Amino acid sequence: MKQDGFKSFSLNDGILRALEQLKYDRPTEVQEKVIPIVLTKKDVVVKSKTGSGKTAAFGIPLCQLCEWDENRPQALVLTPTRELAVQVKEDILNIGRFKRMKAIAIFGKQSFERQKIELKQKNHIVVGTPGRILDHIQKGTLVFDKIKYLVIDEADDMLNMGFIDQVEAIINELPRERVTMLFSATLPEDIEKLSKKYMSNHEAIEIQTSKTTVGKIEHVLLEVNEANKFNLLLDVTIVENPDSCIIFCGTQEEVDNLYRKLKKANYPCEKIHGGMKQEDRFSVMNDFRKGQFRYLIATNVAARGIDIADISHVINYDFPYEKESYVHRTGRTGRAGKNGKAITFLTPSDEKYLKETEQLLGYTIPRGTPPPHDEVIRAKDAFEKKRIKRPPLKNDKKDQVNEGIMKLYFNGGKKKKLRAVDFVGTLSKLPGVTADDIGIITIQENSTFVDILNGKGIHVLEKMKTTTIKGKQLKVYQAKE
Ligand code: AMP
Repeated sequence: MKQDGFKSFSLNDGILRALEQLKYDRPTEVQEKVIPIVLTKKDVVVKSKTGSGKTAAFGIPLCQLCEWDENRPQALVLTPTRELAVQVKEDILNIGRFKRMKAIAIFGKQSFERQKIELKQKNHIVVGTPGRILDHIQKGTLVFDKIKYLVIDEADDMLNMGFIDQVEAIINELPRERVTMLFSATLPEDIEKLSKKYMSNHEAIEIQTSKTTVGKIEHVLLEVNEANKFNLLLDVTIVENPDSCIIFCGTQEEVDNLYRKLKKANYPCEKIHGGMKQEDRFSVMNDFRKGQFRYLIATNVAARGIDIADISHVINYDFPYEKESYVHRTGRTGRAGKNGKAITFLTPSDEKYLKETEQLLGYTIPRGTPPPHDEVIRAKDAFEKKRIKRPPLKNDKKDQVNEGIMKLYFNGGKKKKLRAVDFVGTLSKLPGVTADDIGIITIQENSTFVDILNGKGIHVLEKMKTTTIKGKQLKVYQAKE
């Protein structure tokens, strides 16, 4: 490990400052290997477990390499799910906050028109799911001639989910002169083929474990008959009494069923699956991220790449039929150096899938025994106490980096012929304010949002109530987000 952490990569001061606020004290193993290679603009194929710090491994060099002055997107990041697209965008915004990097998430089931308008604005980095990105490229609403960096995140999932044709179609539209980065938790043959076809001279990086962010996960298999699963789940949750737990089911119907049953048993739970409205999916994930309820019942939509702090338990209520899913699902716990427990129910008909999964894992998952009745009885009191107690809210890393930042809303934008320089010019002339105190500026048709950094938001807000921009007195408020 390098002595001076991220400083040895000669990163922009703003990026270093953001990493400090995010409490990324030193690079994880994957970051240490990947960042210097990408900074020299070489292609990489990275095999690294989820939770190893992959997002920042590409997020940091992207924020470093993208030029602020360029208005058209310079980097494209493809992710398999909408939730992951939003999370990656947030991570990139957090890393690039003080360099004023702009990132946007583009995915299906959201208004195409709204995305079209957002894509017209200055964006350095576009993150999205393949279908919608391709749609925008084909309709000419995503200008890609300046794309110099392509990241394919969770590439193995992308292939599993049948995205390969869309991914290839996107790659074929992008400028040939570019850096391509492929990240995958596993490297099946198809990924190797993809990398040979579209990358020349890439560096292959394989990270076995990551000491910094991956904690220890205790794995255990519990044999059970289909009919007894629900009772076993009740017993296991009573004895384990998790702080925060994801229960994975195989299908949307199973999720709905189990959710109904657990709600009836008064569990503080919510559910997520692909059949739900996108707004509901986001709002459930947000509440779970903040720790507002303890049990999330989910299909594999929540298995891929989603980074939520302090999930103490993952329960595979239904055995994961795609063998890679086991790695993804259980990777939701034991993150950021914390320990976790992964409990998998195994019915007689699941045995055939177990073999394949263990082959992929390279080890045998230890078999445990269901909790004995007297242990369940003993644990009940503590379980009941926790069940009725409101869970403590989790720390959101976004809050750390956002400390001292206030977003201001101005009631004027493009229609009034206002540009970013007009805002920077006026605001940086206010007493006690410099250009370094001004963060991301988003100019829309009739409004503008400006991040004010370093705790100077209130001061700027007060001053701007009586200061004109380009001769115009605009209304100014603190934005609601
Ligand atoms: P990822 O593999 O990208 O999902 O990241 C796993 C977790 O590690 C996330 O919560 C990151 O915020 C966190 N993380 C990434 N890089 C570092 C670092 N250098 N130091 C501490 N935490 C990190």
